[in-house]
Amino acid sequence: MVVLNEKQCNLLFHNGAKCFCLIETRYDLLALFSFLVASTDNFPMGITAQLLKKLKPRSLRNKWLSFVLRGKEVECPCCNRQFITFLPAGLQKRANAQCVNCGSLERHRIIWMYLKKETGFFTSSLKVLNPAPEKLFYTKLRTMSNIEYTSIDLYPEKYDYGSKTIKMDLTDLQFVENSFDVVLCNHVLEHIPNDAKAISEMYRVLNKDGWAIINVPVDHTRETTFEDLTIDNPQQQLELFGQPDHVRVYGKDYVNRLKHAGFTVEVIDYAERFTHNEMFKYGMLKGREIYLCTKK
Ligand SMILES: [Zn+2]
Repeated sequence: MVVLNEKQCNLLFHNGAKCFCLIETRYDLLALFSFLVASTDNFPMGITAQLLKKLKPRSLRNKWLSFVLRGKEVECPCCNRQFITFLPAGLQKRANAQCVNCGSLERHRIIWMYLKKETGFFTSSLKVLNPAPEKLFYTKLRTMSNIEYTSIDLYPEKYDYGSKTIKMDLTDLQFVENSFDVVLCNHVLEHIPNDAKAISEMYRVLNKDGWAIINVPVDHTRETTFEDLTIDNPQQQLELFGQPDHVRVYGKDYVNRLKHAGFTVEVIDYAERFTHNEMFKYGMLKGREIYLCTKK
């Protein structure tokens, strides 16, 4: 007999109801089993589940999941693969979040679709700076022939990817002014104590006609950003800022920090341009705006 704990029940029968029903209607026990194992941290199905969880290399596990969860219900714009569902992901698990194949999350897919449909990112010849590159962006962007890609990070040695990432501080960029056409900075500033300096550095190295996407998680229930730079205890940071390596929670005033550096900012809720069904299909979340910054 299988006994689910409260968290697992909530994930599968409430937040993840649609994903669960899609799998159930396939009458594919293998798909359901694999989904459950991949979705929850301690799914009580004994040794087989544990073996699947530990299947190495990780690409083999992803290949297996890609096979059993194949379908037409969701589509990842980053890798163009289709599945029954995206996997749940996050500290507080979100349903329909992570691509089984390439690992993209909602925040990657929304940017990817925006870049593809609304910009010349995939066709124009561009110099791109990507601070603290996420694996998906690093692996995809550096192979694009139209892009001269530069990634930087304060601790590149901690990555299990990105061997070409340059060790550099975002608050002290070693590039001359007007070096880049595009800066793609996704979920980085919430980790940096002196975010004002980081923003002004990105402004400095961007071409006068260039543009930047500088996204952070924003708590829309907060009018003002909450930070206390005296706190450097991971447990306290988790409690106060939502993650052990975050140094603040941005509120609605985040946009002012970008403007303060000189940027003109357009806040785009790109998911709003899609229907409810399309949002499910591409695994999007409303209220996760794109902060498009230009120097003009
Ligand atoms: Zn994908």
